Amino acid sequence: MLRYDLHTHSTASDGALSPLALVERARERGVEVLALTDHDTVAGVQSLQGEMGEMTLVNGAELTCLWGSRMVHIVGLRLDIGCDRLLRYLDGIDLLRQQRAEQVAVRLMKKGLPDLLPEAKANAADGVIGRPHFAAAMVMKGLVKTEQQAFTQYLGSGKVGDVKMQWPDMSEAISMISQAGGLAVLAHPTKYRFTFTKIRELLVQFKADGGHGMEVSYTGISPSHQLELIKLANKHELLVSAGSDFHSPAQHWTDVGRFMPVKQPVEHIISHLL
Ligand code: AMP
Ligand code: MN
Ligand code: MN
Ligand code: MN
Repeated sequence: MLRYDLHTHSTASDGALSPLALVERARERGVEVLALTDHDTVAGVQSLQGEMGEMTLVNGAELTCLWGSRMVHIVGLRLDIGCDRLLRYLDGIDLLRQQRAEQVAVRLMKKGLPDLLPEAKANAADGVIGRPHFAAAMVMKGLVKTEQQAFTQYLGSGKVGDVKMQWPDMSEAISMISQAGGLAVLAHPTKYRFTFTKIRELLVQFKADGGHGMEVSYTGISPSHQLELIKLANKHELLVSAGSDFHSPAQHWTDVGRFMPVKQPVEHIISHLL
């Protein structure tokens, strides 16, 4: 099978490398098929058209959406980046993310922190703004030692900077991805801190909504959880996807193209992408 990575980030969202630098790093690591899946944007993917050389680019995006009141991430792969509905959808989320950033800054100020919005915006630069840009601002200002600590204290699930927004519903994300010619993949099911009972419920809804696949290998997943997810993928007839979720070379525990190989008999999404 080709070497691939179907989940990566660039400076178009919260990644550290420009799209081109990411492609270069992937090439050095022998990746032959690379999906750029920035949070809620295809700007990086747009900038890479015609720049890939021998490598195959999969047009992707990782969409922030809601399953009931819970936030989940759906990766869209093989997107038609000229699709009107896709572009309107992403414009809508961009606005939500800007509104959220303003609210995050206000909430943090109420906790006695300085106004971090200017630094967060500067960190996001041209990319879509997210909580990691606040985390980096906190480190820069010496308010916390690490970005991880920023999440644990201020930005993570249930903390003051975790501002709830009316993100699009999961069903809308899946339907939009399908209309844009893409395949909808449930990202990193074990990263939401759901029990496996909840994950099973989520998968039933995801499948009913027309979802196509799920990630079963990514940074941090344990071998036993991977096996459990593969069983569930087979049970729900979902294609299997995998990727590093690479964000930054500074995160030594992850790299482009690096994740546990999927060795079990499964229907792999990669054959649908080429
Ligand atoms: P947002 O897209 O603004 O909701 O931020 C979510 C992103 O923050 C994720 O994609 C990760 O890159 C990052 N993130 C989430 N939780 C943590 C954490 N506990 N530590 C470090 N980074 C995190
Ligand atoms: Mn991220
Ligand atoms: Mn994610
Ligand atoms: Mn991701």
